[in-house]
Amino acid sequence: MKYENAGIIGAGIAGLVCADRLRREGVSVTILEKSHGVGGRSATRHLDETSCDHGAQYFTVSDPLFAERVAQWKDKGVVDTWQGRIVAIDSGVIRDLNETKERLVGTPGMNSIGKHLAQNLDVRNNTQIKRIERSNKKWQVFDDAGQTYGPFDVLISTAPSIQTRQLFTEWSPQFDDQLASVEMLPCWSVILSFSTRLPIDLDGAFVNGSPLSWIARNNSKPGRGPSECWLLHGSAEWSAAHVERDPEEAGKTLIDEFWNLFGGELLHPSSVTTHRWRYSRPREALPSRYLFDDQLQIGCASDWCGGPKIEGAFLSGHALAASLLETR
Ligand SMILES: Cc1cc2nc3c(=O)[nH]c(=O)nc-3n(C[C@H](O)[C@H](O)[C@H](O)COP(=O)(O)OP(=O)(O)OC[C@H]3O[C@@H](n4cnc5c(N)ncnc54)[C@H](O)[C@@H]3O)c2cc1C
Repeated sequence: MKYENAGIIGAGIAGLVCADRLRREGVSVTILEKSHGVGGRSATRHLDETSCDHGAQYFTVSDPLFAERVAQWKDKGVVDTWQGRIVAIDSGVIRDLNETKERLVGTPGMNSIGKHLAQNLDVRNNTQIKRIERSNKKWQVFDDAGQTYGPFDVLISTAPSIQTRQLFTEWSPQFDDQLASVEMLPCWSVILSFSTRLPIDLDGAFVNGSPLSWIARNNSKPGRGPSECWLLHGSAEWSAAHVERDPEEAGKTLIDEFWNLFGGELLHPSSVTTHRWRYSRPREALPSRYLFDDQLQIGCASDWCGGPKIEGAFLSGHALAASLLETR
């Protein structure tokens, strides 16, 4: 057997899908994840009274393989259709989107997808990988607390391109140009909780010509509970221009813009939580679904390979696992 074990950096959708596929074929997989949860950017923030999706908002399906898996998730109650009223707002004018596409969300939060995928996997949380090393044709990885993991027959990174590049540069310089070519755009996000429902007759809006790009009534998604909670995303351009700004100030600008859309403050929020995604999405994904070096047995998968978003991350992780299993 070529691979008895594998190390995967990152427990986002790509890493979990890749790990799950390998595990089902008998490969022993260890996932090393820097945060305390799973799901990566498909994330849900827990607050006192409620919770809110502050990363990915929903997903759509076009690939048949992904569609098959999503149908299973739907049967198991892991995801559901979001029936909210989604509009576009241009210069204060609200326009309904006459679309037929189904928008799906994890239930009761976007992180349900990651939690479901991780069920039978060995995920080591709070483990930030700082360094990798190859000796005797095996990989060892080292975390920020000095802990060592491995030896692994094969090593996969699903961290954002910039972070993968930092880890790989010494060992796999042939990936360097490709990794350097992927620009990951930042996104400021703000969660607003309210004691009562806001008098706003929409559930999600793409906002054009504003520091905001998207707003959503999180509690209009299925399974969220009644507490009124809104999510604001800054546009990529505005977020990039203000990426180092104090979170409170960045949040205030986006909240002011939110109220401007509706003619002024409708209700004072009971809580405000601001989060900066330094690497939210690729400006343009690489053309290949994954990168892999057969000599060194090292590779990467993520939404910045082959196609963006949750579907792209799923297909990337799946394709890399399939290719590893083919060459076993
Ligand atoms: C603000 C925002 C809005 C979005 N909106 C949508 C949307 O509406 N629809 C949609 O389909 N997609 C959306 N996306 C994109 C979607 O979230 C991603 O495409 C998808 O979740 C990427 O999954 P991934 O596994 O490739 O990467 P990630 O989810 O980023 O997973 C990588 C994991 O690696 C971990 N990691 C990184 N470095 C290390 C390290 N050194 N050691 C250990 N672990 C490490 C990270 O903590 C993370 O958990 C959005 C993303 C953001 C941030």
